[in-house]
Amino acid sequence: MASGTARFTWNWALAEWNRQFDAGQKPTAATLKKEFNAIKYKEYPWLTDIHRDAHAEPFTNLAKAWVKFFRDLREGAPAHAPVFKKKGKCRDSFYVANDKFKVNGTEITLPIVGKVQMTEELRFKGKILGLTVSRSANKWFASIQVEMLEEQALRKRTGHNTEGVDLGITAAAALSTGEKLIAPKPLKAVLRRLRIRARGLSRKLESAKVRIGIKPGQKIPKGTKLPVSNNRKKVAAVLAKTHYRIACIRSGFTHKLTSCLCRENQALGLEDLNVKGMLKNHRLARAISDVGMGEFSRQVKYKARLYGTKLVIADRWFPSSKMCSICNFVHSELKLSDRTWSCPNCGTIHDRDINAANNLKRLATETALPAASNAVMRSTDALQKVSGGKVTPVSYDPVCKKNQGRKKNVHFYAHSE
Ligand SMILES: [Zn+2]
Repeated sequence: MASGTARFTWNWALAEWNRQFDAGQKPTAATLKKEFNAIKYKEYPWLTDIHRDAHAEPFTNLAKAWVKFFRDLREGAPAHAPVFKKKGKCRDSFYVANDKFKVNGTEITLPIVGKVQMTEELRFKGKILGLTVSRSANKWFASIQVEMLEEQALRKRTGHNTEGVDLGITAAAALSTGEKLIAPKPLKAVLRRLRIRARGLSRKLESAKVRIGIKPGQKIPKGTKLPVSNNRKKVAAVLAKTHYRIACIRSGFTHKLTSCLCRENQALGLEDLNVKGMLKNHRLARAISDVGMGEFSRQVKYKARLYGTKLVIADRWFPSSKMCSICNFVHSELKLSDRTWSCPNCGTIHDRDINAANNLKRLATETALPAASNAVMRSTDALQKVSGGKVTPVSYDPVCKKNQGRKKNVHFYAHSE
């Protein structure tokens, strides 16, 4: 009910935003909220039964969504304007401010819902800022925001290597150590089950169509509602659980990969993931592509900060795949389908992904650790000459300010229906 309210408010705010924006006005979260508060109990009396935060927070979130949209537009990244939320098609969630709930050990007291058991205690000490309750398949999660000191959040690095990582087409990731990481094994089995269960649901939909007189294969006219049988509900719930399990396996894989990379290295060479994501996202290995390049790069960035790892990100002009990591020759005829190639200049036989990872590693070494690089690596001059002087690596220095409060999201498996 509270998540429905959050959805309703979001949609109201977005519609009003669009209307005002088209009329040449400049809507803000604060003005919209004011307008909504002025009319809400008169026009939507049922709102009185719901705690306030569920219909206050969507305004803040909408403002954030617009800020992100305009920032992405400016930076040339793929930008998505906020869209309307549809019942059953969106993530069910709502926000509760810190004065409305209590955490006591593994027990959490929510407004209206009451006491709920969590699967584990809050692991972080600090001031509790707020809580977001959300649903995935049949599970509800409580994500608690805790403000804590930067030092408490920092992690200790276990290794001080430098590695290049090429996010893969065939393997999920190729490392400059020569390792190739492939997608987790259980994924294949679950994907098979997903196909079977999806077929089961589509059979139920087909028979529902027949029942109201639409021929199989014929399109459903807009606005028609299919009768929902109990069996269809059951199959749909099982399918949602399967989707959820797959999402867990994938996100677990990405989390382990990014943690491992940041924990064991003092510098990492990566490609500009935005560009790479745009160019060949459809070809990326399943495990990463479905978690999303954005998610991978988000995780790498915040974990690099926690472990004090330097990220060196090669821009789109860096010929990571086409350059021979031994002699710097740029093999411009290299096709995307060439998995291995031999260098026309020095004859070295390269694995495409490992070679790219090696080039990224060298870039990281030269950019992040200039003192060490002279002894170990060939000079940067050669690198720049070869690639037309367009190597402009961006280095993100993990600068940590002391005593700066930061937000920490903690996910808990709260309870299952
Ligand atoms: Zn060569």
